[in-house]
Amino acid sequence: MSRGHARHYEGHHGLSVFGKDLVRRCSAHCELCDAQGVKLSVFEVPPVLTEPDYDHCIMICDTCQKQIMRPGLIDHNHWRCLNNSIWSEVVPVKMLSVAMLRYIHRQHAWPGALLEQVYLDADEENWIEQIEIC
Ligand SMILES: [Zn+2]
Repeated sequence: MSRGHARHYEGHHGLSVFGKDLVRRCSAHCELCDAQGVKLSVFEVPPVLTEPDYDHCIMICDTCQKQIMRPGLIDHNHWRCLNNSIWSEVVPVKMLSVAMLRYIHRQHAWPGALLEQVYLDADEENWIEQIEIC
């Protein structure tokens, strides 16, 4: 997705309200690829709202973040992690996982089977359509 669609909230004052909750939720693991012992930062899943919203924020590692922000750098093997994250109970993690799988599916076959298994309700489908990875 382009920089215009995503904001990086590290150090943002609004984030301090729920930053601790995010840290607790992710328990020091990247919420997408499960990497631990690496630097994690907050990524806000589009559509970006005026105020930071806990339900749009996820904690991810630099590797994931870099590839989301610059899809030209995508190493599709890294994203095998979506096999797990797509089942996350954390809704923004699930939403971004589906969006990434759809993006990768344009060039690779493997996400197809996974995408067929996941159930999305109308609200979730609507949300995913607003996540532009381009
Ligand atoms: Zn990661």
